Amino acid sequence: MHARLCSKTTCQRPAVYSLTYDYQGCSIAIGPLSLEADPNSYDLCQTHGEHLTPPSGWKLYRHDLLRGVNAGNGMPSTTGSDSADSHRVRQ
Ligand SMILES: [Zn+2]
Repeated sequence: MHARLCSKTTCQRPAVYSLTYDYQGCSIAIGPLSLEADPNSYDLCQTHGEHLTPPSGWKLYRHDLLRGVNAGNGMPSTTGSDSADSHRVRQ
């Protein structure tokens, strides 16, 4: 396996997300790291993927990330959203 790193130049963390720009639709899609390196996509680490903000006027689409990713990088670092959801279901 190739170790792929975040494409942010100052960042050396391993990539867990793939980011794809759709210039025609002015949208950005982010999802689990693609299996093959795609020249049109950017690899991002967990931190940069989660804190990504699109340029003004662009839309950002997030694919279901945490549920689909279970191999090798199992350190979910999100805080709160899961427990908030289960709280609401129990009510
Ligand atoms: Zn990064």
